[in-house]
Amino acid sequence: MTLDSTKTHVAVLAFPFSTHAAPLFAIISRLSSAARNTHFSFFNTSKSNNSIRSSSFKQNVRHNLNVYDVWDGVPEGYEFAGKPQEEIELFMKAAPESFLKSVVAAVVETGREVSCLVTDAFFWFAAEMAEDMGVPWVAFWTAGPASLSTHVYTDTIRNKIGDEGVFINSFQELDPIISNDLNSKFNKYLNVGPFNLISPPPPPPQPPIISKASGCIPWLDKQKVASVAYISFGSVTVPPSDELVALAEALEAISVPFIWSLRDNLKVHLPNGFLEKTKMQGMVIPWAPQSDILRQGAIGAFVTHCGWNSFLESVVGEVPMICRPFFGDQRLNARMIKEVWEIGVRVEGGVFTKSGIMKSLDLVLLQEKGKRMREKMKGLKELAEIAIGPKGSSTENYDTLLDVISKSK
Ligand code: UDP
Repeated sequence: MTLDSTKTHVAVLAFPFSTHAAPLFAIISRLSSAARNTHFSFFNTSKSNNSIRSSSFKQNVRHNLNVYDVWDGVPEGYEFAGKPQEEIELFMKAAPESFLKSVVAAVVETGREVSCLVTDAFFWFAAEMAEDMGVPWVAFWTAGPASLSTHVYTDTIRNKIGDEGVFINSFQELDPIISNDLNSKFNKYLNVGPFNLISPPPPPPQPPIISKASGCIPWLDKQKVASVAYISFGSVTVPPSDELVALAEALEAISVPFIWSLRDNLKVHLPNGFLEKTKMQGMVIPWAPQSDILRQGAIGAFVTHCGWNSFLESVVGEVPMICRPFFGDQRLNARMIKEVWEIGVRVEGGVFTKSGIMKSLDLVLLQEKGKRMREKMKGLKELAEIAIGPKGSSTENYDTLLDVISKSK
């Protein structure tokens, strides 16, 4: 097939959430009626296209404007966990590839190479895509000019505003290189943590939930030092059901004592008979006194999503981690845990499989490598204790923060 490179073809990539796609479609529709020799291909999810169609599509449809449905990124059979922005994350993960696939199909269908890429400004990958295609990229900013300006001038704003400061629940000795760099970037960059070593953990949740967990500390007291696996994915993250099954099967097969913080409504995903069979081996509770559990001494491995608070609690408890990050900063935290601080492993293949989790538990709980991780953890905890002690870096930063906050008018 020969493509006609003399005819123009604008590929338009829409962001299918919030009020992004409809205004983009509106202007593309106007442009297509003004530039009749140019072909426009509009790419969006079918759900979002349908909502546009029902409002403005019919009266705006033109011979030189095609609307294509792209994949929404939701895998078949996927069960939504109800996380905030779950749909957006799935879409964004798949977006570079699914858009490209649809664009290629549109090129074949129209017989025209893409001559210009118009996209929602959210699509960071579009710059590269346009460069690969050798065409200009024109981005649509759907919000107001002030927010665009803030993005453009972030560095200038940061340099100009006098006492601007950032404080953070960490301690500077944890990562001196990043701390020094951020110190040079912000007027005041204040590591004032770890909070969990300074103040007591927040109060536990509702009485019925905590009562189910009340037996776990006495139970842990009866276990050997560093022998128990603690499993928790924080307050939001829910692993897919097949991974919960793999985790349960691994625990049962390896016979390691465990405490698993798992909400009651998720227990349906556990293999039949798991709770009954492991009743003497471990505890499944809907909410755990995590901070206390990790400090108790019996926990030898923390199977975690790598949330920042969980990480800090693990440091204070000197417990190496088995990382299964999901989104946000979790992946970056997991990378630091494994590669930089060397206090944990990532599950094989990035997701829980029975054999993968068994290997990780064996390594962390029983092998020499796990012992070395515990020693490194001890070193980190000592640094944290110094940081929050008299004349420690976090203590001094805290005084500065107090000054900045209490003396600013
Ligand atoms: N947490 C807890 N009991 C549980 C699960 C979580 O006390 O059964 C606490 C945990 O100690 C930590 C917080 O919830 O302080 C989770 O924060 P993190 O930043 O690790 O993850 P997020 O919930 O923000 O994803």
